Amino acid sequence: MGDRTGDAFRAAGYHRVCERYHVPFEDLQKDTWKEYEAAGMKIKLCDKAAAVDYMINMPVLKGHCQTTVTCALKNNKGVIPNSEKRRFHTMGLHKPIAHLNTIAKNDFILVDNICGDLDFEEGGNPVVMNRILGFKDPVLCDAFVCDSMGYSVKDVPYIPLAESLGVGSADTAHANIIYLNEASKAQGAFNMTRRVQQLASFAAPKDACSACYGSLIYALDRLNDMGRLRKGLPPVSIGQGYKGEEGSIGVGRCTSCFGKTLKGCPPKAADIVEFLSENWN
Ligand code: SF4
Repeated sequence: MGDRTGDAFRAAGYHRVCERYHVPFEDLQKDTWKEYEAAGMKIKLCDKAAAVDYMINMPVLKGHCQTTVTCALKNNKGVIPNSEKRRFHTMGLHKPIAHLNTIAKNDFILVDNICGDLDFEEGGNPVVMNRILGFKDPVLCDAFVCDSMGYSVKDVPYIPLAESLGVGSADTAHANIIYLNEASKAQGAFNMTRRVQQLASFAAPKDACSACYGSLIYALDRLNDMGRLRKGLPPVSIGQGYKGEEGSIGVGRCTSCFGKTLKGCPPKAADIVEFLSENWN
């Protein structure tokens, strides 16, 4: 962060991918740019990014200290000059991000939801979910991300603003969602920071899939923000090990025999927040 793109590219090992698959690397920090009319705002866009036939955006799903979440819409800041990025921050990010997306169009979005972060773009509290998500619509993508992290799109003003500018639809309830793989059990527990361990202490996992467990961790973080976590709450059961078993409270299809249970495979964090707010005591 704050470094030269070329150095970061090499440090992350992407140069090896370029060599192996003969993909040229275009460093947009060295590119020229033009200013465009973006639904009532003037925004600079790098020339090489503006010239592509088909744009694939590859964000990492994670929390962000300023915008709450970051994914497809905000990742498009990668195609503007550094001076424009700094200007976006002076404007509070939300409005310019929404307007940028009226000119920086995405044809496909491939989201890295393998191991994002609870609340900070540079990492610190990783949450493993082991998922890759594909979208055609960046607004729908970011709305789905809000569901996945237990937020409302209203918590991330650039999402409804981008929707109002015609960039896409935030209506996840009517989206055509296709699951290409069955959920599978996590291969071993991931290394948790103390903060994530504290949240996880409210859960009782037994052979839980990563995406399911990650959703619960995000939901517990939201409930913590709301002041709802306290000692003495019964642990929330989650995981394939509970299939056919009875119990008091659980989330996910595998706990369908429990007295209080939330459907979903995996359930969304937003639904877990609502369910636990109403049923956990
Ligand atoms: S509900 Fe689905 S995602 Fe969750 S643990 Fe069971 S099989 Fe995995």
